[in-house]
Amino acid sequence: FRAAAGTGGRREKPHFSPRALIGSGEREAPPLLQGAPGDGRARVSPPRASLRLPFCVPVWALTPCCPPAAAPAPAPPPARHLFSDPAEIEALRRDLLAWYDKCKRDLPWRTRAATEPDADRRAYAVWVSEIMLQQTQVATVIDYYNRWMQKWPTLQALAQASLEEVNELWAGLGYYSRGKRLQEAARKVVSELAGQMPRTAEDLQKLLPGVGQYTAGAIASISYGQATGVVDGNVIRVLCRLRCIGADSSSPAVIDWLWDMANALVDRSRPGDFNQALMELGATVCVPKAPLCGECPVKQHCRARLRVEKELAFASQKLFGKATPVPDVEDCAGGCPLCPPAAEPWDSSLGVTNFPRKAAKKQPRVARTATCVLERRGCHGDHEYLIVQRPSSGLLAGLWEFPSLPLAQDLQEEKQKEALADHLQAWMGQPVVAGDLQLIGEVVHIFSHIHQTYVVYSLSLDRDVTLDPASSPSRWVTEEEFHASAVSTAMKKVLGPPRAFPPLPPSSCVPERASVPGSPCSRGDPWGL
Ligand code: SF4
Repeated sequence: FRAAAGTGGRREKPHFSPRALIGSGEREAPPLLQGAPGDGRARVSPPRASLRLPFCVPVWALTPCCPPAAAPAPAPPPARHLFSDPAEIEALRRDLLAWYDKCKRDLPWRTRAATEPDADRRAYAVWVSEIMLQQTQVATVIDYYNRWMQKWPTLQALAQASLEEVNELWAGLGYYSRGKRLQEAARKVVSELAGQMPRTAEDLQKLLPGVGQYTAGAIASISYGQATGVVDGNVIRVLCRLRCIGADSSSPAVIDWLWDMANALVDRSRPGDFNQALMELGATVCVPKAPLCGECPVKQHCRARLRVEKELAFASQKLFGKATPVPDVEDCAGGCPLCPPAAEPWDSSLGVTNFPRKAAKKQPRVARTATCVLERRGCHGDHEYLIVQRPSSGLLAGLWEFPSLPLAQDLQEEKQKEALADHLQAWMGQPVVAGDLQLIGEVVHIFSHIHQTYVVYSLSLDRDVTLDPASSPSRWVTEEEFHASAVSTAMKKVLGPPRAFPPLPPSSCVPERASVPGSPCSRGDPWGL
């Protein structure tokens, strides 16, 4: 049994944990790690004693000394939620790794992790992939990853990049703070750690901003071979099904339990491969809606599948009038904290997808924003658009967008136009007539926590404007430059796909200028802004 964290040698009540019941002979405690904000895949909570599952076994129940007279009888451990047989654990590791060796996808970060001899470069390559993969599909990440590693193959190269460059490459990948934090952490490694990546999961999490328990475990196990588990969404799904865990899988108690289980299961000789195999299984076989149980390499260890099979057998017996009670298919008796809640029992029609379960998701906040596509004719007859930079913190920090203004809900169109005209007027330093704004339509974009509607207006300028250099950085861009800039996917939706414009007559040329010195559009800036 593992003592609670930070007991300092005091005799605390130990807790049941999957590791405790494995009997592997390994005595080291699993890493005691804490989540970091923004580590989207981490799904972590620190191993707080107060959040441990309530079926603890008191010390007196484990030792020959006399128990306190009034101590309550300990609740039995929920054996169906554990891996308690060392032979089964060995078999599961073997089956999973054999399948992974045969079926794993060929991914660029795996190739780098397997072939890069330098530990810092290897850890950096894994780190970049893990940050990009947070909340993002593998297929989407591959191209971004390859371009990133080509541009910044080392920590040192990334540390020298500007945030603008990072945002440009990250554009379209979403959750933009990830790229920013990755670069900040790279700078920290170079400036404060002599360019050497921390060598353990504990230090990675402690020393690097944006690296939480999941990312630290992934880097340490894959790059350094540290025997530490990982828990991401795929692992949660697989483990919950393997051990019929139907309680809210986002609750701290269940997450703690899963971390203990992952740390206990991880193969000691191939921890990185084991962790990747578990995630690969969740991504390709034990998928959320229609898992391929028939092809699953660990199906013989899966209690959710066992339950389904027994129910089918029972139904078949019933059909032929031979139904007998089916053992081991019911939930644990007496309000087990890992079984589905009594109000939402096992649903036979869902099969193994009864697991995992989550508390109802919080509804995203609804927001409306007026945005104005300000257009002019640039030199050579090109269409040009004005984009402005967002603040350096908050949502879409540092990205570029069309001039935009948050709107109150249910604001009438005329009022919207007036508000937007006022906003543009204050920003450009000259009158903007609300009636000149043309309503184009609405574009909906779903951020993780915001249901955002952009009310899109357009305004074509037939005169020059003097942008206020005291306001946000701004610049005129062609359509091609717009798509190559650090703009969000939402703004790309606002402009629409690249179009083939008829060239405008050169006589209508407006001199180029921008309020960002050195920006692509500051060439030939007659005002020197
Ligand atoms: Fe998932 Fe099915 Fe495999 Fe169980 S048998 S781990 S539910 S794919």
